[in-house]
Amino acid sequence: MTQTTAEKTEHKRIYTAKQRLRIAAYQKVYRAAHKKEFQAYKRKHRVRARRQMLVWRAKHKLRVQLMQKRHRAKLRLEILEHYGNVCACCGEWHTEFLEVDHIKNDGNLHRKEIGRGSMYNWLRQHHYPKGFQMLCSNCNKAKANYHVCPHKIKKAQFEFSI
Ligand SMILES: [Zn+2]
Ligand SMILES: [Zn+2]
Repeated sequence: MTQTTAEKTEHKRIYTAKQRLRIAAYQKVYRAAHKKEFQAYKRKHRVRARRQMLVWRAKHKLRVQLMQKRHRAKLRLEILEHYGNVCACCGEWHTEFLEVDHIKNDGNLHRKEIGRGSMYNWLRQHHYPKGFQMLCSNCNKAKANYHVCPHKIKKAQFEFSI
């Protein structure tokens, strides 16, 4: 039986992918077994490694941008998965409008604590803790400026009047 070119390419693709997985698995075991040596090597060549990384990043600016963009998109998807993909106040479901809200309004303090790092990264590093929710920008701004979103007031007034 002769293979067509398409079949050959597909076969090659699967083989390479499998091979890559096998190598990655082996590397993981090897690294775990030689953890101390790796750490010592890293410490010894930290400055050189950083310089090399910066050179590589400067050389591949577009690629770095694309990688960052992909990373951010993936992270945002994870955030939405954990904190819900609708506004907790008004139910806005266009995810483009949604932002992370500090339920207890201690966002400024928290941002100071995180420093320059990204909030999304922080949330992931801390395994998506409680105390956060998704709000659309309107509800988030209203909550920040007037402590309560008008949606809530309108609803309370409405419930009071009936
Ligand atoms: Zn809303
Ligand atoms: Zn609202």
